[in-house]
Amino acid sequence: MGETTGGFDGARIERAVREILHALGVDPERDGLEETPHRVAEAYMTLLSGLREDPLRHLQTSFDESARDLVMMRDVPFVALCEHHLLPMLGRAHVCYLPESRVLGFSEIVRVVEGYAARPQLQERLTAQISDALHEGLGSRGSLVVVEAEHTCMAATGAWRPGTTAATSAARGVFAEDPARRAEAIALLRTG
Ligand SMILES: [Zn+2]
Repeated sequence: MGETTGGFDGARIERAVREILHALGVDPERDGLEETPHRVAEAYMTLLSGLREDPLRHLQTSFDESARDLVMMRDVPFVALCEHHLLPMLGRAHVCYLPESRVLGFSEIVRVVEGYAARPQLQERLTAQISDALHEGLGSRGSLVVVEAEHTCMAATGAWRPGTTAATSAARGVFAEDPARRAEAIALLRTG
């Protein structure tokens, strides 16, 4: 059933999931569970597909543009696995940057967010990586990224409440240096 796909050892994941089920005292062979190890392996391959790509490659399709006004994209949805529990965090990224000369297509912004989300992650790191990509990676004058996410792993500690989200932000370039610009961008991001 399992196969190795681009560095993923699917068969090994399946064996490990069977082992977890055994350790839980659940019979992996019982009705309804036969395909579970395979499904879990496929889920990991999808949710962690970013491990096999460098999201910076999406910046190569940027185009030259004389416009140097703020570019903003709100509510880019993502699913990531928190690296502490391998449980999903469900969130949205709000992204803005001030171009120097190169501008990124909107679908490329989505791919950058997804590429960094699809790996064992921390919300803080994800926020910083997206912001770095849009500043240093793209060569912009600055970037500001706000990420809001619901962490299902909070249920594991009993701290989960429906609708509780954590927010993180990462400012680079002019948005890091100029508090007035940062405040202006955050206000715009919140207008959604
Ligand atoms: Zn966690």
